[in-house]
Amino acid sequence: MSDWQEYPARISTLGEDTVIRRLLPHRQRRMIGAWCFLDHAGPVQFAKGKGLHIGAHPHIGLQTFTWMLKGEIIHRDSLGNEQAIRQGQVNLMTAGNGISHTEDSHYEGDSLHTAQLWIALPDSHRHCPPRFEHYPDLPTIAVGNDQLTLLVGDYEGVQSPVMVHTPLFGADLYSPDGGNFRLTLNPSFEYGLMILEGDTQLEHSALTGGTLYYQPPGIESLSLIMQPGSRALLLGGEPFQEAIVLWWNFVARSQEELQGAVDDWNSNNEARFGHMLSGSPSAKLKAPTLENVLLKTSPE
Ligand code: MN
Repeated sequence: MSDWQEYPARISTLGEDTVIRRLLPHRQRRMIGAWCFLDHAGPVQFAKGKGLHIGAHPHIGLQTFTWMLKGEIIHRDSLGNEQAIRQGQVNLMTAGNGISHTEDSHYEGDSLHTAQLWIALPDSHRHCPPRFEHYPDLPTIAVGNDQLTLLVGDYEGVQSPVMVHTPLFGADLYSPDGGNFRLTLNPSFEYGLMILEGDTQLEHSALTGGTLYYQPPGIESLSLIMQPGSRALLLGGEPFQEAIVLWWNFVARSQEELQGAVDDWNSNNEARFGHMLSGSPSAKLKAPTLENVLLKTSPE
């Protein structure tokens, strides 16, 4: 792992009792391309009568991207969408100027394994009207005996249908029988790599779970040795060119913009965040008081 930088996750809790590893943002690594948030949740088996429940909350200036590995979640949003997401599927919600949604386990006592990511919108798209897309099938590419599921961007002439607004890449790497997984990379992209399950070696060193491995632009290929049944997530993108502020569920450019979003949400401004579809058992979340935002992400 000679020149891969290592960033350990912060362990956190989502909803009632789902342990998650937060890999982005990290104090020393805020973004990978436009990817600005990464939670790896589970795998977890909920107790009888328990599940994941996240009450209504808003987003601005970003796309939420959910990659589902196990379990089933119902997404409901202020555009009127109610959509189940299952194994091997992606939900993409483009917040633009404002949207709100809930996320709930479909079945109590279910299992859950998912990666939840955010993609910062560039200035040209961050005030667009909100939208939501469900992608039930993603392209898969055979790489030797292994399988690349193309989540975002393109690989060897194949294009993911997931609509993003900056040069970006995301892939799920799965090795059913184990072996050497070799990939071609784009030298103009920076990359991040993490284990989702199993054991994988990078440059003859074992990768540690709950760690983000980062590589700045310039790398042209990647070679992994994966044990049978192992799975990893590879993210990439052109370094994001705009300074953002990320706070609570918002991506903006200034403290004033954040304060405006907090006020609009807490005062039930439906012109901005819409009217939540009923059906979720979870209560609406209140935006916390905005402190001075010190965590400004600058382009590097
Ligand atoms: Mn959300």
